[in-house]
Amino acid sequence: MPPAADAPLLVDRHGRVHRDLRISLTDRCSLRCTYCMPAAGVPWIPAHDALTTDELVRIAAVAVAQGITEIRLTGGEPLLRTDVVDVVSRLAALTGPSGRPEVSLTTNGLRLPELAGPLAAAGLARVNISIDTLRRDRFRTLTRRDRLDDVLAGIAAARAVGLSPIKLNVVAMRGVNDDEIVDLVRFAVEGGYEVRFIEQMPLDAGHVWSRVQMVTGAEVLAALRSAFDLVEAPGRGSAPAERWVVDGGPATVGVIASVTAPFCGACDRVRLTADGQLRSCLFARTETDLRTVLRTGGDDAAVAHAIRRCLAGKRPGHDIDAPGFLQPDRPMNAIGG
Ligand code: SAM
Ligand code: SF4
Repeated sequence: MPPAADAPLLVDRHGRVHRDLRISLTDRCSLRCTYCMPAAGVPWIPAHDALTTDELVRIAAVAVAQGITEIRLTGGEPLLRTDVVDVVSRLAALTGPSGRPEVSLTTNGLRLPELAGPLAAAGLARVNISIDTLRRDRFRTLTRRDRLDDVLAGIAAARAVGLSPIKLNVVAMRGVNDDEIVDLVRFAVEGGYEVRFIEQMPLDAGHVWSRVQMVTGAEVLAALRSAFDLVEAPGRGSAPAERWVVDGGPATVGVIASVTAPFCGACDRVRLTADGQLRSCLFARTETDLRTVLRTGGDDAAVAHAIRRCLAGKRPGHDIDAPGFLQPDRPMNAIGG
């Protein structure tokens, strides 16, 4: 159903209409990926600051009424939230000017064997699963946990219950897994999945990201071209991934060059952290405190006003290349990837 002509829209000062809400369900995680979390000593969000399910559904309901059409659940590891199936069914039942939102999830896959079926039944539309390597020793080094077999079982479980498409997120890292770029695509083509290679961004807990260490989208493409025939897929829209048809199709592969070819001009995302802070960008230096709006008795109009105030401050770009760039204080697991 197209939105009504007078439907409210979340437009920022640069004319970008926001349709995509990312909700972090928790900052906790079952892995410790080096580019995201520290090995130990994580400053967890205190339980009393975390949004309750009623609170997060209420914020999402206001956002959907304001024109959000896609909700992606993330974290930390979203499947660690004990009521995640209930969260999905409540979010999938919301309605806005364009009807019901599409609810999807980004996960490390570890709990998919038991949850893929219930999530699909609750209305989950799609899933992205992160897997950076197919080698057990590397997986253990990269995530600091020996759980590769569980991720593979999670991917298989998502496929078995018919979740589609299944996208596999890979962060390529120099000297770590960049020799597996072709192998990961072969694995995906055989399984009917779509790999998306993501440039590593400065969102690690240790603040040790360096541009030199980052494998660029162009380098990923060069590696892929050495093994596959790639033809650009049409219709990118506001999607961050540039997609390529592999060897005549139907398989495709995506490259998300967030650092070297930012797509900020078409960004339609806004992010809610597990402690109720709204962020207009992964790299925002400020947050809008929706939790306090709710807990001080704010009505839906007050929540909508706060969402608009947040977007009014959205900068045109992430400025990773600007001389004064400062990495956000919170690491990726606390922001919600
Ligand atoms: N735990 C879930 C997972 O790993 O899929 C969801 C949260 S995770 C923060 C979401 C995505 O962000 C994952 O695909 C992960 O690889 C990616 N990610 C984390 N840190 C990153 C970084 N510094 N640069 C680029 N992508 C990153
Ligand atoms: Fe956990 Fe996902 Fe971060 Fe890895 S990328 S540590 S799985 S939140």
